Order: sequence, then C-alpha cells, then structure tokens
Amino acid sequence: MFWAIIVCCIITIGIISIYFYGETDNLSSGIPVLNYHEVEDNVNNPLALTVRDFDDQMAYLHARGYTTITPDQLLNYLNAGGKLPDKSILITFDDGYVNNYTNAYPILKKYGFTATFFLITDVIGHNPWYMNWDQVREMQEQGFQFGSHTLSHVDLTSISSEEAALQLVKSREGIEWRLKTPAKYLAYPGGFYNPQIEKSVAQAGYKAAFSVKFGRVQQGSNPLALERIPVFKSRWTFLDFYVRLKFTKAIGKIKAVKDEIGL
Ligand SMILES: [Zn+2]
Repeated sequence: MFWAIIVCCIITIGIISIYFYGETDNLSSGIPVLNYHEVEDNVNNPLALTVRDFDDQMAYLHARGYTTITPDQLLNYLNAGGKLPDKSILITFDDGYVNNYTNAYPILKKYGFTATFFLITDVIGHNPWYMNWDQVREMQEQGFQFGSHTLSHVDLTSISSEEAALQLVKSREGIEWRLKTPAKYLAYPGGFYNPQIEKSVAQAGYKAAFSVKFGRVQQGSNPLALERIPVFKSRWTFLDFYVRLKFTKAIGKIKAVKDEIGL
C-alpha cells in the first residue's frame, strides 16, 4: 500500500511536470537550436548519429511542420522584433565533418531544410575527415550557412586573450575570404566561454555565438551565449531527441539540479 501511494505520487508529479514544462510549439516557448556533429554509420561515438537516425529526426520535423531558419532570422527576431513562423527551428552542426556533406546535406535537401555549419577552419580542405572548400561552397550556393568554430578547436578560456583574438579573427576572415560573404556567427569549441571571451567575440566582429548551454533561445537570451539542444546517439536516440525537443525546459531543470548536487 505504502509503495503504491509513492508510485502514484511520482506518476502524478510526472504528469503535472509534463503539463507545466512540456513545450508548446509557438514562439513563446523559445526557439530550439539543435546541435549535431557527425552523421555517419559505424562510428563508435555518441556524437555520431547514424544516417537512419538523422533521417528519422528530419522526417519528424518535416511531418510536424517545422520551418528551419537561419541565424540572421534568429538575431533579427531577438534584436529587432523580426517575425518568425511558429515552429521555427535552427539546425546547427559543429566542426565541419565531411559526412555533413555526404550524409546530412542530401537528407536536409530532401526535406527542404536549411542548416548552419560551424567550421574548424584550419582543417577544412586539409584533412579528409572534414569538408573541403568546394563542398562548402556547393552547400552555400544551395542556401546553407557557415560560421566559425575557431581555427583549431581550442578551448578559448584556456589561452591568452591575444591568442583567443587571433583564433576568432583569423577564422572569421578565412571563411569570408573563401565564401565572399560575412561570417557573423561563432560556436564555442567544447562550449567553453566566459565574460572575457564574450567581449573578445564581439570585438572580433561576431554578431552572436552559440554555446551548449541546454535550452531554447528566448527573447532576452544573451546573443553571445545562445542556448542549444545537443543531440546524441544513445540506446533510444529518437526518444532522447523527442524528449529534448519537446520538454527542453524540464530537461534543463533536471540538468541544473544534477549540476548543483554534482551528479
Ligand atoms: Zn566542436
């Protein structure tokens, strides 16, 4: 009897939490910014989704009527009250793996989606595991966006401010030189940043930077530390994706509690 009451209480609290913390799909719940890395089969890395898993997730977003947006549209919404469709979503990829071009790009095109890729500029065209500039340019011509993930994926909080400035400015200039278009956005390598780095990012000419702070981007979010929703491979990859997307606030609260008690 005692345990039955406890279980009932837990279920009731769960239902109430889902009711209050489950996201609606209108903009007041914030804009989800998904964060992917690799899309490749047979890679033993939680950051590498299989092609099938990635296709399933894009098929879901497509079937549910999500509209993919660009960082420009997101910033215009945050800074200037620009309009966004309900069910707006920003899809981002970090690092610039070649499988983003070979595997993710065809799937994104199939569903009429766009995405933004943050490049480690020193390895683009120099390492076969990463894209080359012809592939990047081809995607750019199809409306895909590119930003910086620094020159060499260094933890910006672990180096001198001079070195950080170099990483930020040179990677931005490299993309602009190759793609003949302003590179206004950054993703922090490893998600590491601090207030000093935020200043350096603004001084280096970026309009906004994406972190891995779990959550949706809201009116009032810090443009130099925008929230994202990392997507991983797991035993239940689609369920994890679904819960992270639909219950972002609840998952964020659980993560905050876990961090506070050091779990
Ligand atoms: Zn990275």
